[in-house]
Amino acid sequence: MQYQSTRNKKMSVSSAQAIKTGLSAEGGLFVPENIPSVSSAEMDAMTSMTYNERAYTVLKKFLTDYTDEELWNCINKAYTKEKFETANIAPVYKLNGAQYFLELWHGPTCAFKDMALQILPHLLTTAMAKTDEKDELIILVATSGDTGKAALEGFKDVSGTRIIVFYPSDGVSEIQKLQMITQEGSNVGVAAVKGNFDDAQNGVKKIFTDVSYNAVLENNNFKLSSANSINWGRLVPQIVYYFSAYADMVKGNEIKTGDKINVVVPTGNFGNILAAYYAKKMGLPIAKLICASNSNNVLTDFINTGIYNKNREFHTTISPSMDILISSNLERFLYDISDRDDTLIASLMKQLVENGSYEVDSRMKEKISQLFYAGYCNDDKTRQAIKACKEEFGYVIDTHTAVAKVVHDEYISKTGDITKTVIASTASPFKFNQSVLIALGGCEIVAGKDEFTLLDILSEKSGMSIPASLAELKHKNRIFDLVCDKEQMQHVVSDFLNI
Ligand SMILES: *Cc1c(COP(=O)(O)O)cnc(C)c1O
Repeated sequence: MQYQSTRNKKMSVSSAQAIKTGLSAEGGLFVPENIPSVSSAEMDAMTSMTYNERAYTVLKKFLTDYTDEELWNCINKAYTKEKFETANIAPVYKLNGAQYFLELWHGPTCAFKDMALQILPHLLTTAMAKTDEKDELIILVATSGDTGKAALEGFKDVSGTRIIVFYPSDGVSEIQKLQMITQEGSNVGVAAVKGNFDDAQNGVKKIFTDVSYNAVLENNNFKLSSANSINWGRLVPQIVYYFSAYADMVKGNEIKTGDKINVVVPTGNFGNILAAYYAKKMGLPIAKLICASNSNNVLTDFINTGIYNKNREFHTTISPSMDILISSNLERFLYDISDRDDTLIASLMKQLVENGSYEVDSRMKEKISQLFYAGYCNDDKTRQAIKACKEEFGYVIDTHTAVAKVVHDEYISKTGDITKTVIASTASPFKFNQSVLIALGGCEIVAGKDEFTLLDILSEKSGMSIPASLAELKHKNRIFDLVCDKEQMQHVVSDFLNI
């Protein structure tokens, strides 16, 4: 299977090259030349498989230039019981007869990005060996919080790589910040950028597309790569858990093979829900894809009107990993539903850069409304949902997952559609403990208390134990205190690389 760019269809590279490069030279994203299918026999077989076997079944269809041995090696290094504290890796929690939470946060950093970022470094180093790459890979990451830490954990001390993470100085939680600035490892760097996530992301994109700077790096035997969700190696592992959730539901007699389900995803950069869309295209019986946003509801408007317009107020919310106005992975989806019209995609993305907006044609709008339902909610509703979920079901969810719950509840009351539904649960409540506790018991609970006391209180209230990786932050050294302007990001990279 070869890969092409969303802005240049004629390009044809192997999956190893696509993963190694991250972003295509003309700014497009790599996509497979076709979406393979999974037969119902294969889906049936998945019910009795381990998570790793399910991962192999899905990944081998996309990463055809990786040998079996290479794939197994990557999968088995990534998804271990030790790292995920559960042999299931991504267990499904039945809330009631209609809603099932797919818990994607059992990995080392307590958020769903571990699902991809634990395997990406292995896919990437394998790709380097396969393509005879002698340069050292520099992983540049812009993060709204969760990606940064998950990438640092995934890449730390992986030979042949270095990783530099930029996070927005406004807009990550205290725990997220602590997780990043205490990162250990011989090949890691972390800096705060004054501004929001889009500032950090645009800064990183600028470095990637700066031809003369890339030549300087090349002269020093460095090559840039990305661990952002624009990298195909990030996206493809996310397809796996939708198949896995379905297989678990069949196994638990909640559904029969072939029954339709709906999927709800709390969405930011459109990576997670795009993986669900690809799973549907591969044959997984998904009826509706439900896109849930917070007050940064640019995607809600897009799905409902066909107009993408980022010219709007940016809101800092209690679900910060979804505080995004430019959803990079949407480009892959648009490419697919435009029947792979690379010229159109290049033009839409140009309009986005130049005017901050674009509109798709009526044919694409029609496709979008058949596939998707979209909704959003504000912080108040998010908090109410956390409280109600705890009171009604004794189950504590984080702020991002709560946005999805609200949007799905509203979807049910609007449409009456009670199809069994998988809600992607994207973070452990402990990771956003302060907001979760305020939701459960008001501001008094948290007043004057430090993060670690809050973890204890949340543990008591939820009956869940504190993830070890969060508890141990208390005793870790604060290593990275650098704060830079967005114009300085290139200098930070050069400093870190000593060039
Ligand atoms: C990154 C993230 C999201 C958004 O996922 P996208 O793939 O960017 O749409 C939602 N919730 C949490 C907790 C996240 O870390």
